[in-house]
Amino acid sequence: MDMFKGNFTQQESIPESAIEAAVRVMRSGRLHRYNVADGEQSETALLEQEFAAYMGVEYCLAVASGGYALTAALKATQCEPDEPVLTNGFTLSPVPGAITAAGGRVVLVEITDNLVIDLDDLEAKIKSSGARKLMLSHMRGHLADMNKLMAICDAHNVIVIEDCAHTMGAKWAGVKSGLHGHVACYSTQTYKHINSGEGGFIITNDADIAARATMLSGSYMLYGRHLSGPDESVFDQIRLDTPNCSGRMDNLRAAILRPQLEQLDTNVQRWNERYQAIEKELAGVRGLKLSSRPDAELYVGSSIQFLAEGFDEADTAAFLDRCLKRGVELKWFGGAEPVAYTSRHDSWHYVEPQSLPETDRILSVLFDMRIPLTFSVEDCKQIGEIIRECFEG
Ligand SMILES: *Cc1c(COP(=O)(O)O)cnc(C)c1O
Repeated sequence: MDMFKGNFTQQESIPESAIEAAVRVMRSGRLHRYNVADGEQSETALLEQEFAAYMGVEYCLAVASGGYALTAALKATQCEPDEPVLTNGFTLSPVPGAITAAGGRVVLVEITDNLVIDLDDLEAKIKSSGARKLMLSHMRGHLADMNKLMAICDAHNVIVIEDCAHTMGAKWAGVKSGLHGHVACYSTQTYKHINSGEGGFIITNDADIAARATMLSGSYMLYGRHLSGPDESVFDQIRLDTPNCSGRMDNLRAAILRPQLEQLDTNVQRWNERYQAIEKELAGVRGLKLSSRPDAELYVGSSIQFLAEGFDEADTAAFLDRCLKRGVELKWFGGAEPVAYTSRHDSWHYVEPQSLPETDRILSVLFDMRIPLTFSVEDCKQIGEIIRECFEG
């Protein structure tokens, strides 16, 4: 029996050009984003300008983490204390965490077998909760039908804050993920699509949201040094009523992200070759249901998910164990106790308990695996074979 020897948490090294840029910043001593020499633009301001251009959006703010981006974006839409905020019943914990940090009340919406938000339940919950905000998580890179979703939200005046932690570089019907809603957030944490350890972005075309988020991030009164921020006149309206909740990005991280952004689209293709190599091995396995990927979706295959229809807890434990013995580390989202990044909505005790029978049914048989780019396409084929053999018993 062959065994896979790769490491599921090992990312690629930082490109040499990014390392050189980081060394330059360190030699300068000017690590703080607002600490610039005469006539200099900071690495952070340049990165924001480049990400805004990549996305084709007016405003971009770089911040300390993806979770911070979500919190600040929600606060910038003027979330009231205890205001209901809708989100997916299946997402990672920084999402309900951000709603809680912004003072909102989490209202969970069911998901479908394809792991996206259920649009019928979304509409029902908009009506029953009266919520006017949706923090939409494109969890594990799966995009809902964004045109339908926005039609529902627009009809009910619901502001959409997109969590694009897993969809940086993805598109729905040719439109980049993050351009559908009113504001979108990204993460540059190590396990996402570009890597600065920690970090994040907020993008929007709404000048008021951009100005508030900038003040929140701790720009003191130095917002004039942003290259992709709103006009100073917009700040005049809000600068004294917006609290400073520091969470800026620094020039060191920005310096290592700029060269990585240039490689993003190439890396999307590399991820998808790997994803498709695994998918091919698993296609047609009886009882194993891969996510179906709609034609409109240009996804980023940085992780793969499948449902094991008919598995009970004993089957699950035995399957995970067989895979692990052959070097393949799968995560199971059905476990009662959170393990590493997996967690279920009932593990978030700061959220009012909510009944989500469909989501619970799906999570009980949901398996997940990250696909680091340190794996070759051959590695991915081997992983697919191992999963198939272990699944078949
Ligand atoms: C990683 C992630 C975030 C943000 O996480 P940070 O670690 O704070 O950068 C948000 N949502 C999802 C779905 C994520 O996976």
